[in-house]
Amino acid sequence: MLPERLARAITLAGPMSLAQFMAAANAHYYATRDPLGATGDFITAPEISQMFGELTGLWLADLWDRAGRPAAAYVELGPGRGTLAVDALRAMAKAGLTPPVHLVETSPVLRAAQAERLPDAVWHDSIETLPGDVALLGVANEFFDALPIRQLVRGSGGWHERLVACQDLLFLPIAGPAVPEAIIPESLRDAPPGAVIETCPAAVNLMRGLARRLAAQGGALLTVDYGYQGPALGDTFQAMRAHGFANPYENPGAQDLTAHVDFATLAAAAHSAGAVPHGPVAQGQLLTALGIDARAAALGERVTADRDRLVSPEQMGTLFQALAVTAPGWPHPAGFA
Ligand code: SAH
Repeated sequence: MLPERLARAITLAGPMSLAQFMAAANAHYYATRDPLGATGDFITAPEISQMFGELTGLWLADLWDRAGRPAAAYVELGPGRGTLAVDALRAMAKAGLTPPVHLVETSPVLRAAQAERLPDAVWHDSIETLPGDVALLGVANEFFDALPIRQLVRGSGGWHERLVACQDLLFLPIAGPAVPEAIIPESLRDAPPGAVIETCPAAVNLMRGLARRLAAQGGALLTVDYGYQGPALGDTFQAMRAHGFANPYENPGAQDLTAHVDFATLAAAAHSAGAVPHGPVAQGQLLTALGIDARAAALGERVTADRDRLVSPEQMGTLFQALAVTAPGWPHPAGFA
């Protein structure tokens, strides 16, 4: 059992970083179940409506077409049940684009679910093994939010790394060793005691790696998640269980741990690695610009509620943001002013 294993590790080596705790909990969580849907813990945009994947596919096909129809591969990070990929590939095929499919997925359970619907796909543990000789048409929906974060907490005297301690299988956040003030963004240094700054080194590394490949191979990436433009203060570490919020320090490995994505930092990482970031723009704004209203009208009355769920500011429309990254010299992506 994961809680026992984590407890033993903490007893032996002392409190662990929040990133270590989150990485171990999510690896176990995703490896052992399909978390999506009514009987699972949460639902995502492509599971709400086929329109999400279709518009994503058309967005990629349009860029590819205007880039001169180069040899390309479809790449998805954390494809869940494969629903987005199926909808996007169907829409892309209508636009004359039928690329090979490469999926970056670590969970064996979700790989099996994806294989049922995408039998010809090639799976990867990381972006390192993706093809190196074609343009990459990439998608990442609710992927970056699952990557492990660090938290820095302001104490009375200075900033500390947040660690996770354990007593009798009860996990709890504590303030760890002091961190040098120089690593705190200047605008946030004087925050009041209790303030929290989050960073996600894993997300930054991954975005840098992808951007380097886009710059070298051509292509584009669309990433959608709940997020903000950092640096900012705030504790967004949360757990989802059975469609509700739960204490993220309880039941490690049995509930989905996420944190909001810092899109400004990801955009800067993409830029520094030689690619061109666009946005972020709100999900509702992007889907509207890509024609979700016409698509919903064509599909009929039954999808009106789904359209509202994806687009309206009270639902997913504003909380979720989309960041595009393109290869230098590639055309400007639709929906990003
Ligand atoms: N994109 C899907 C699923 C989102 S859930 C959707 O929108 O419905 C997060 C997905 O990322 C799952 O497929 C999970 O197994 C995968 N994942 C989480 N951490 C990962 C990691 N470090 N490497 C690769 N895949 C990961």
